[in-house]
Amino acid sequence: MIFLANLINGESTAPASGSYLDNINPATGEVYSKIPDSDERDVNAAVDAARKAFPTWSGLPKEKRSALLLNLSSLIEKNLERLALAESNDQGKPLWLSRSVDIPRAVSNFQFYATAALHAHTEAHAMEQTAINYTLRTPIGVAGCISPWNLPLYLFTWKIAPALAAGCTVVAKPSEITPMTAYLLGELSIEAGLPPGVLNIVHGLGPKVGMSIVSHPTIPAISFTGGTKTGAVITQTAGPMFKKLSLELGGKNPTIIFADADFDKTVQTAVRSAFSNQGEICLCGSRILIERPLYERFKNAFVEEVKKLRVGDPLEEKNWLGAIASEQHFQKILSYIELAKTEGGILLCGGKAVQPEGRCANGYFIEPTVFEGLSYDCRTNQEEIFGPVVTLQPFDAEDDVIRYANSTEYGLACSLWTSDLSRAHRMAGQLEFGIVWINCWLLRDLRTPFGGMKNSGVGREGGFEALNFFTEERNVCIRI
Ligand code: NAD
Repeated sequence: MIFLANLINGESTAPASGSYLDNINPATGEVYSKIPDSDERDVNAAVDAARKAFPTWSGLPKEKRSALLLNLSSLIEKNLERLALAESNDQGKPLWLSRSVDIPRAVSNFQFYATAALHAHTEAHAMEQTAINYTLRTPIGVAGCISPWNLPLYLFTWKIAPALAAGCTVVAKPSEITPMTAYLLGELSIEAGLPPGVLNIVHGLGPKVGMSIVSHPTIPAISFTGGTKTGAVITQTAGPMFKKLSLELGGKNPTIIFADADFDKTVQTAVRSAFSNQGEICLCGSRILIERPLYERFKNAFVEEVKKLRVGDPLEEKNWLGAIASEQHFQKILSYIELAKTEGGILLCGGKAVQPEGRCANGYFIEPTVFEGLSYDCRTNQEEIFGPVVTLQPFDAEDDVIRYANSTEYGLACSLWTSDLSRAHRMAGQLEFGIVWINCWLLRDLRTPFGGMKNSGVGREGGFEALNFFTEERNVCIRI
């Protein structure tokens, strides 16, 4: 049995409580490691270490910080196989996916921010003959970073990298469901030469560890990715403390398909967008809206492709979907499948749990599931399921599909398929989503702003937006 430890002041540290939580491999249903059940005492120790490390880290020339972060990036790359396997065992995702997407993206996150910080600039505003204003940006202090279980190392590093590159020290908490690669990252950060206290990682439960980070008086900025309900709880605590908040929350993303779209590409990408990572990507397209003249043809081709997707042992190359991340989430998805039926949905394929033979017989697997016949405003089409369940709906006019697409409380991402560029431009400004992909999905440039509208979040990650988030800005006005 592997016992994970917190990383506090550069050292592997047992939780103050002495207690541990079970960490389950969702593909087998077995406990395979133990996670520190940390509490406020561990968070306080981590914040003390981060506070002590802050003056030296923030005072380093940015080239030196950059070099250390590039070391860490190289070490992640060197350990790609080990990390990919750990991610797959911890999260349930196919090994080919963690190897080709999750871990390479963690490498890029550090590379991107280690170099972006070298090119950061601030504005100046000259008042003719009177004064010059310039904006001075300084690192904000100890940053709190809290991340979810769906893309564990990918999203953990998407916060930590800009915070460290901006000159902040960090107290970070990965999800208790997927702590393993965060633990390994802690080890690698020591090997990379990060000074003690610069990066601290505290494991444990959200209401205990996460809330202690959020409510800590000497953490002025919280970067959080997770569910909308948790985002609201965090805001209730951090709001009255006037902390800076970056919240990346839930989504219920539409894929909008017009009859003039490139048919084969659209079908292929709609399948990928619906079921990648078992549908557990906040950007997955779970409401597929199809222009009526194309509806039957698209439906038949889509369902035929979905039936070919294999579900099973994440370590086997042939499987396209692995396990659902936890038993609780598995039950939640199954309950939504039942809800869709009671709401009148017609099941086109899938709909059941899968029990593979062999080592994965007790794992949490669900068939890729497709429904039709549901109205745009039913619960199945309004609430985030975050699993391999999608609906197909026809639409007649542009106005109708915009209304359907915008009808949920969320506004994270949308994917629009058409060969009419004027229509694409026209609609892009009317769709209430932080990302509008046209004839593509999950095509990411790390320089672009990333985040959601409405209940999908507050603020933007990505590019200089994330670096700026971790700084405090002052207007300096010099009278001439
Ligand atoms: P979650 O909100 O349950 O947990 C996220 C993190 O917050 C975990 O580390 C958890 O321990 C912690 N947490 C829980 N309660 C807390 C509290 N009271 N105070 C502080 N921290 C607390 O979310 P999840 O189930 O881990 O992740 C799934 C959700 O994340 C989905 O809604 C998904 O859409 C969303 N998500 C959003 C994005 C995005 O970029 N917008 C990306 C990935 C996932």
